[in-house]
Amino acid sequence: MEKYEITMTPTRRCRRCGRLLFSREALENGYGCQCAKHVRQEELARKPIDGQISLMDFLKAENGG
Ligand SMILES: [Zn+2]
Repeated sequence: MEKYEITMTPTRRCRRCGRLLFSREALENGYGCQCAKHVRQEELARKPIDGQISLMDFLKAENGG
């Protein structure tokens, strides 16, 4: 009797577009190489930019602080 092993690991598919991943790097990232670039850019965009002031600092400056 033959047994078929069905693997449904989410890491085998790109978490962004759902494409199957084959390269080791893609499997480690969880994204295809194109999507990894997009995700990296999105992560960078989410991080606060150097020199950006908080709302409290902005209000203090507005009040002549
Ligand atoms: Zn993808």
